[in-house]
Amino acid sequence: MTARIGMKNPVVELDGDEMTRVLWALVKEQLILPYVDLKTEYYDLGLLNRDATGDAVTAESARAILRLGVGVKCATVTSNAARKAEYNLKNLYPSPNATIRGILDGTVFRKPIVVAGITGAIPAWKRPIVIGRHAYGDVYKNAEMAIPGPGRVELVYTPREGGERRQLVAEMEGPGIVQGMHNLDESIKNFARSCFRYALDEKLPVWFAAKDTISKTYDGRFKELFNRIYEIEFKEKCEAAGVDYFYTLIDDAVARVVKGEGGVLWACKNYDGDVMSDMVAGASGSLAMMTSVLYSPRGAVEYEAAHGTVQQHYYRWQKGERTSTNPVALIFAWTGALSKRAELDHTADLEAFAKNLEAATRRTIEEGDMTGDLARLASPAPARILDSWEFIDAIARRLMRS
Ligand code: NAP
Ligand code: MG
Repeated sequence: MTARIGMKNPVVELDGDEMTRVLWALVKEQLILPYVDLKTEYYDLGLLNRDATGDAVTAESARAILRLGVGVKCATVTSNAARKAEYNLKNLYPSPNATIRGILDGTVFRKPIVVAGITGAIPAWKRPIVIGRHAYGDVYKNAEMAIPGPGRVELVYTPREGGERRQLVAEMEGPGIVQGMHNLDESIKNFARSCFRYALDEKLPVWFAAKDTISKTYDGRFKELFNRIYEIEFKEKCEAAGVDYFYTLIDDAVARVVKGEGGVLWACKNYDGDVMSDMVAGASGSLAMMTSVLYSPRGAVEYEAAHGTVQQHYYRWQKGERTSTNPVALIFAWTGALSKRAELDHTADLEAFAKNLEAATRRTIEEGDMTGDLARLASPAPARILDSWEFIDAIARRLMRS
């Protein structure tokens, strides 16, 4: 074998949990390390290490991404009461993705990986639908309170320079719940900027949607700022490039997307983006065929798979089963990160390797070697479903020959 490809600067590697942690190691070992003298700054975001470090490791990894410019993240378990018992945790911490997004700010773009022969649930979709998900605030940074009994709930704003503003939320007649959310003008503006930049790069029309008819102040602000950034900073460039922009209500956008042909960047608020990206991924084929990239306005980029840790497969793997879990989104997280590193460092051989690995992965599926989730969508159906280990071997063989 020829010498391995060198790297000038490391990427930040964020390891994770369960089945994706198992596949993460396998992908590195079989598909990357034989070819690349991999330089990473490693952070273990596995649940046990997050617990042991009081979750400090999560914030450290996010700051490392800001410092080095490129990160690649495995899926991680978001702890809850069930996980606390299962893993014997000391504490519950926020979702690592929420913590990282809070530090990096910026926007998450989710784009289906399109492979010939794999057809999704909406055959009308001819081109990928990219979801641009705002990555800061709203329900992901909310404050919630259970209200035990009758009483008044108010929003209180205390300006730094003194004074106070109050707004009645509800006169509660009995027990119930209350939630407070926020966002920042600067983050919304950066969201709009990331979307228009991405759209200009990819030559996609931009749709932005919210619910400003109901939420006149909150969603109204999103609409106003998004439109203003377009008018002031991007309108000329977009018109010159033939990139259209339009705003509509979120329910109208959903109807249009389902009836359309795809090929749009759909800019979504944080929660809408969470839900709609799973809808698009599900309808496009498999959750495991969805890439996810976070662009920070401070220049850093983080790559990951859009799916979770595939918990049920992990339990079966622990019992000795060779599961047919699809590693494609994890592979594309790595190739995305290595390509970005190559672009920043001007290392053409690393860029070429990343493209080769993507091509070998696509070719493997197109030639009929695939995991179970894809076999259900493939025409013609493959002769046999591969487990993750066989599938990665099949990619490795094609990569070796390329
Ligand atoms: P999930 O891990 O995405 O899996 C949900 C189901 O989707 C799986 O049971 C499986 O369906 C299918 N699936 C997802 N990825 C697949 C793959 N690579 N190959 C084949 N099938 C795949 O979601 P979850 O089970 O709701 O969540 C598990 C854990 O992941 C949770 O603890 C959650 O906190 C965490 N999570 C993390 C992230 C992240 O770090 N970005 C995102 C979401 C969830 P079948 O069982 O039908 O095969
Ligand atoms: Mg989701």
